[in-house]
Amino acid sequence: MKTATPVKFFIHPDIAALDPYVPGKPIAALERELGISGAIKLASNENPLGPSKKAVAAVRTGLKNIARYPDGAGQDLSDALAARWRVPRAQIVLGNGSDEIIALLARVCLMPGDEAVMARPTFSIYRLTVAAAHARPVEIPLKAGRHDLAAMARAVTPKTRLIFVCNPNNPTGTMVSQAEVARFLARVPKRVLVVFDEAYAEYATAPDFPRMTTWVREGAPVVMLRTFSKIYGLAGLRIGYGVGPLAVMDAIQRVRAPFNTNLLAQGAALAALSDDTHVARALAVNREGMAYLTRQLDAMGLAYFPSQGNFICFTLNGTDDAAGQRVYAALLRQGVILRHFAGRTLRVTLGLPRENRRFIRALKSILSHRAI
Ligand code: PMP
Repeated sequence: MKTATPVKFFIHPDIAALDPYVPGKPIAALERELGISGAIKLASNENPLGPSKKAVAAVRTGLKNIARYPDGAGQDLSDALAARWRVPRAQIVLGNGSDEIIALLARVCLMPGDEAVMARPTFSIYRLTVAAAHARPVEIPLKAGRHDLAAMARAVTPKTRLIFVCNPNNPTGTMVSQAEVARFLARVPKRVLVVFDEAYAEYATAPDFPRMTTWVREGAPVVMLRTFSKIYGLAGLRIGYGVGPLAVMDAIQRVRAPFNTNLLAQGAALAALSDDTHVARALAVNREGMAYLTRQLDAMGLAYFPSQGNFICFTLNGTDDAAGQRVYAALLRQGVILRHFAGRTLRVTLGLPRENRRFIRALKSILSHRAI
């Protein structure tokens, strides 16, 4: 006789209560579902140019060695990053994407019942990871699409151990400046670790974008997270890194899996770091896409947040909050994958010029239908 597994006896209730992370829909999944081809994905803030040729060549070379374990410490890449940021190598940790470093930070810093302060909306992995560590996410609403750092500092209690600041913020693309960060850090007690997730920092063009490693070098309790998934175009290889206080990085080194970053990713990331030309091309495509899309959204009378990233968060007109989901679904039917957040708000990743044009054509045609 078959009996149902009594899951409730061995799954922690905090884990059972988690809402799973919903990633952007993969192109292949949409094409399979709708029986279409040629779909475009502007949903996960990937680099539309793909990776640097140097990174691809490094992967090819690395393929010869995949029977061997990678260098668990990723020394070559860590050295290159240490040189780039002018910090000792021991202040760098590599992760299987910056996602993993977020999880490792929660693991080494949070005890059950602790609190972690973050914005809302922001990158949803913070909330998920904190809850998975049996701690309490404290979410502070954005103010006009931007982190309300004053309110976040006020939300600190004796139980607070971590604060997440996503800069530029995903999904709004807004940023906090060097001066704002300075004021904020002066108010936050030194026993709280502040994590600045800078997954999109390479795209930021504002001259007052914070230089977090200055604080790291001064010994402030801050961690800067970066990734190779965005401007470096290596999302599929899964590699990111953190730069922070020695004690925190040392704790992470103790608990991470011994080979958490793989051989191909390490090689590709190292090569990608040395290809400034590719980064400059990606920035140029992004600048052009930003100018085109903001012009088009302006012409359509749609509101959006000023973005320092490679994506734009825009809001449909009217009061019908279900329209967001309908427009998202209608775009899917035209083979254009975006990300839908709450209500009438959608996020589009800046693509190649032809992808951006296709998105705008599709959006215009959808919005011209009264049924939407
Ligand atoms: N932080 C932010 C703000 C992100 O948007 C993402 C990717 N969606 C990540 C971190 C994770 O990036 P990865 O794990 O690919 O490095």
